[in-house]
Amino acid sequence: MSDSPTTPHRTDASPKTYEVVARRLIQDVADGTLPPGTAVPAEVKVAEELGVGRSSVREALRILESRGLITRATGGRFSVAESAHPLVEAFETLYDLRRIDVVELFDLRELVETQAASRAAERHSDADVRRLSEALGSMQWGASTPDKLYEADIRFHIAVAEASGNRATARLVDALRLTLRDRLHAALFLSAAHDDWSSATVTEHVAIFEAIVARDAAGASAAMSKHLRRVTDQAVAILERTASAKKGEAHA
Ligand SMILES: [Zn+2]
Repeated sequence: MSDSPTTPHRTDASPKTYEVVARRLIQDVADGTLPPGTAVPAEVKVAEELGVGRSSVREALRILESRGLITRATGGRFSVAESAHPLVEAFETLYDLRRIDVVELFDLRELVETQAASRAAERHSDADVRRLSEALGSMQWGASTPDKLYEADIRFHIAVAEASGNRATARLVDALRLTLRDRLHAALFLSAAHDDWSSATVTEHVAIFEAIVARDAAGASAAMSKHLRRVTDQAVAILERTASAKKGEAHA
């Protein structure tokens, strides 16, 4: 596992460009230019209109799809999801969060999610355990790609927050994760580190799950804290590596 010098560089898909495209499409959904259920303009048309490369548009569409803002219809075209509006609100909130440092966002996650895990241990129902167990299972058996892994990871964290019995907590956890996903997307998903990330994450999720089921509030909180601190350290290391690689490119 190393940073391969042969990794192809994407010339027009810098985070900035696809973010601009994603934000523009989100804005169009938010202001009603693209109402729920309508077709998203073709990739080539969006690229022309915004003066960006098609790969940036593709990346933006992929992100919006993974968030459920748009869905793929038959024939491969995208349309705006029927339930898009609540998500758009969440997006606006999280785009304000974007001005905040990644480490601060992770720190906030730890504050919120360790408490959520503790309360989930005290308050969970049988249905909560089933949801947690399903989320855990999809990570162990179905998470073959970084995207699937990330989605399964999200499901588990949301399930923990829901098991705390406070829906506001679940929303906050979701918004924080979407924001972090945006920030880290390019760096994490282009890195080869996801195999290690996967096995450590599964082990840590199992520890969180077992403490919750055992109604061990302190144990659940400690297990969540341990998991999030490792994930934070790993993400920061990858971001630093990406940043120094970029510097190297600029001076080459
Ligand atoms: Zn996790």
